[in-house]
Amino acid sequence: MSANYKAELVGVFGQPIAENPTGVMQEAAFAAAGLNWRYINFEVPPDKLGTAMLALDALGMRGINLTIPHKVDVLQYLDDLSPAAKAIGAVNTVRNEGGCKTGENTDGKGFLRGVRRDAGMDPAGKFVTVLGAGGAARAIAAELLMAGVADLLVVNRSPDRGQAMVKDLREATGGPIRFSAWKGTYRVPAGRHLFVNATSIGLYPDVEAAPNIDLTTASPAMLVADAVFNPPETRLLRMARARGLPTLDGLSMLVYQGVIAFELWTGQTPDEDVMKAALRNALGVT
Ligand code: NDP
Repeated sequence: MSANYKAELVGVFGQPIAENPTGVMQEAAFAAAGLNWRYINFEVPPDKLGTAMLALDALGMRGINLTIPHKVDVLQYLDDLSPAAKAIGAVNTVRNEGGCKTGENTDGKGFLRGVRRDAGMDPAGKFVTVLGAGGAARAIAAELLMAGVADLLVVNRSPDRGQAMVKDLREATGGPIRFSAWKGTYRVPAGRHLFVNATSIGLYPDVEAAPNIDLTTASPAMLVADAVFNPPETRLLRMARARGLPTLDGLSMLVYQGVIAFELWTGQTPDEDVMKAALRNALGVT
């Protein structure tokens, strides 16, 4: 048997990129699966994205993740889009099959897998509130609509951004999505099953910040999920737990978006525990 020392390459294009922890968990998963694959963080400025995408073919790379500021600009370099990527209008994962590049968005799918597996909730038929109208909120809302939620209320500070998101996702999915402007304290009404913070409030270094919401009116079993993963233990989640509400942290979404990218690229199922442990270790979470 002759040796094969040629590694398969994937990675991420972004700027800045040095502190992106996804590669740590992907490399741990490749090693655990005995795959000779490498994941490399590439610092790519906006005006070099087109050249970097051509490099996928030149180097025979199997795929790439996109992060800030490339998730929307990359669309022009792709041959095909998944239904979710089309609805969201942004791509965080590309699969390259012999030069044919397909864009997917695994952020919302990762969130949903966390809701199902880590929190044990099936989103179908549920009443959901999503706080925020940025990239993470769009990805989460699109997948929730495609999973058949009964009602999706988007609450955002900037009405223009919130209304644009609702219009786009209603057109793309036909789902039950509506908007409410966020002014002052937002009182979470009874009857909601899931509340998601998809804003950047609480993100490091502003770790004592929490969304200005009132949870006293929420139903006792409402799941409170946070997209913020640094720190994983946000003030919002502490507030929710103090009221006895179940919670889901942003590490869950981060791990599963990586798990889904691994599956897309390799066609195999990774060891999720290995990925979770590598990520927690990289982020210094005990
Ligand atoms: P964007 O910049 O696209 O959107 C930010 C959102 O937060 C907007 O809706 C903005 O409202 C809102 N916002 C920010 N500050 C405030 C404030 N002080 N008061 C009210 N609203 C505020 O960010 P992303 O969508 O890309 O990311 C959002 C969060 O999700 C980040 O913390 C990011 O780290 C996290 N994330 C987590 C992932 C995971 O795997 N766990 C994956 C992707 C993102 P407005 O429109 O009014 O400005």
